[in-house]
Amino acid sequence: MTDAQRHEDDQAPELDLTDVQRATIDALGRDEDLIRAPIWLARQAHVPNDAIERAHAASDPAGFWRERAALVEWMEPFGEVFRFAPPKHEWFLGGKLNVTQSCIDRHVHSDRRNKAALLWVSEDGDEQAYTYARLYREVNRFANALRRLGVKKGDRVVVYMPLVPEGIITMLACARIGAIHSVVFAGMGTQALHSRIQDSGAKVVVCSDFTYRRGKEISLEPTVDEATRDLFHVEHVIVHRRGSRPGDAPFTFESERKKDFYDIQEGHEIHCTPEPMDAEDPLFILYTSGTTGRPKGVVHATGGYLVGVTYLARAFFQIGERDVYWSTSDIGWIVGHSFIVYGPLSIGATVFCREGVPDYPSPDVTWELVERHGVNVMFTAPTAVRMWMSHGAEAPARYDLSRLRLIACAGEPLNPEAHLWAQKHLVGQSNGMVVDNWWQTEIAAPVLGTLPTFDARPGKVGKPMPGAELEVVDPDGKPVPDGTGGLLVIKKPLPYMLRTIWGDDARYEAYWKQIPGTYCAGDIAVRDRDGYFAVLGRADDVMNVAGHRIGTADVESSLLRHPAVAESAVIGLPDPVKGERIVAYVVLKAGIAEGPSLIGSLRDHVRQDLGPIATPSEIEIRKSLPKTRSGKIVRRFLKAQAMGEDPGDLSTLAD
Ligand code: AMP
Repeated sequence: MTDAQRHEDDQAPELDLTDVQRATIDALGRDEDLIRAPIWLARQAHVPNDAIERAHAASDPAGFWRERAALVEWMEPFGEVFRFAPPKHEWFLGGKLNVTQSCIDRHVHSDRRNKAALLWVSEDGDEQAYTYARLYREVNRFANALRRLGVKKGDRVVVYMPLVPEGIITMLACARIGAIHSVVFAGMGTQALHSRIQDSGAKVVVCSDFTYRRGKEISLEPTVDEATRDLFHVEHVIVHRRGSRPGDAPFTFESERKKDFYDIQEGHEIHCTPEPMDAEDPLFILYTSGTTGRPKGVVHATGGYLVGVTYLARAFFQIGERDVYWSTSDIGWIVGHSFIVYGPLSIGATVFCREGVPDYPSPDVTWELVERHGVNVMFTAPTAVRMWMSHGAEAPARYDLSRLRLIACAGEPLNPEAHLWAQKHLVGQSNGMVVDNWWQTEIAAPVLGTLPTFDARPGKVGKPMPGAELEVVDPDGKPVPDGTGGLLVIKKPLPYMLRTIWGDDARYEAYWKQIPGTYCAGDIAVRDRDGYFAVLGRADDVMNVAGHRIGTADVESSLLRHPAVAESAVIGLPDPVKGERIVAYVVLKAGIAEGPSLIGSLRDHVRQDLGPIATPSEIEIRKSLPKTRSGKIVRRFLKAQAMGEDPGDLSTLAD
């Protein structure tokens, strides 16, 4: 080797992985823990051979996506399947469609007309069932009302509603007339709502008068009043009063801008002509949940999005039209859009949904509902699994869960302990499967995940979904060898990826700039020799302790491996000696008593697990951790609190 060559090699950039990330990667490489895919599940998989499907998508992407596009209804056929000049990507060019025709009309014109589209339960036990025919009527009535108020194609409508049928109806009514909905999670406060209404330039805000939170009624109207006070582009505020029903006596509000959700509807107007939308027209804006910084308005396009979520509702979630499917999430998050509303309705499934948290009034509530409604497939967050685990296996064992064959978890790493526990206690009765999957608000459906056609490896998400090409690269974009950590990138656009950030193309381009020509997800990942990916956490969640880089996720996972710990959050605080010191917050499992010996045992455990450098300087026991409702720990809140600083906008927190 010449000196010049050696010099070049020396310069080869290496991703600044933490010691613990390296150790985790080594451990994952050795890990032979497998959860065998049950043969009976693999036999009925919608994609019988994922390897063939993946090869088909790779060798003929245009043909592959053209076939998948046939899963949805088109008003006018598309020509070219895609055109890429990253960061710009367009799909199904020239095609026209309205997503509500796939999600509602086609079922109304079939045998599914009077099957349940939505089964809904509120926190206080109120229940509603909507057949596809009823959903058609309700959506069209409200769509006509919006049109009458002057809402047109391309106008923005902010939806500030809890998980109530009227929230889903509002989203679909917007889609019917081509208005762009932007759902803001109803747990967010004035500041978050204000900035989202302002950024989107919404003409209309639709809200519910209140939501339930652990038995309490939380008013939403005052928040909307405050958030819209100085926003004069908001022409109408439509209030869904939860006690009211169609046909009630008209209701008068003090403000002229305000209208009642049902008063503005006409009973006989059950048909509304669907707006023909270009495949690339925006369907919705969804602001990212905001664990950090200024929210981004992620824009998803009509055609590619619907094709993607319909395909993955079948290919990944394995939902069929005979299934009752429940996502424990909320319409305020991307999974609520893709896999409470558009994906499963496009399939013609029965969507079960419940307003409220999964452990109120008790951790039994979930299993009681699964039993009562015969839920077959569930989507939930790892944080919920850990919560159930902390309450013990007795609760799920009390119920008949034999119909529940698949639980998909996403949103953060699913730690092996929680995975194995759920596999045994939640789907054990059906001999089903718990599977991990990875995606983002920006990518509206799974791109990595475990399919029932292959075995699950706890700690690893799985393999790329057909059509998705992912790679682990160094900071220069060069693929790293298998078993080596790096940045997770998506090499080619997917139809269900974001098209831009609302009003901020430059911020969109940033996703494609870090590694030119590929989409950089901002996560650290590793791929094993069999093609399984593990996602270790965000590339930016790293502490620097005495020159050692330690991921917050590393210490959190270690604490989770301690038998007393249900939840953990870790932050780095400035330290005059070490640069940063590690502070951990933990929630204990039910029935575990706190005390100095426990803190000592937790510290010893991390020291044993990760070494002295990663041992937290302080461990504090808490009753709960600050989280977004989608289950992500808001570390910046803990940090600001610990440093006595203003934590900024807290309105995205769950509690
Ligand atoms: P959001 O846009 O709020 O859904 O957050 C997306 C981020 O959540 C990803 O970039 C990951 O950091 C994390 N994430 C989502 N799913 C997983 C998963 N299955 N394993 C690990 N991290 C995940």
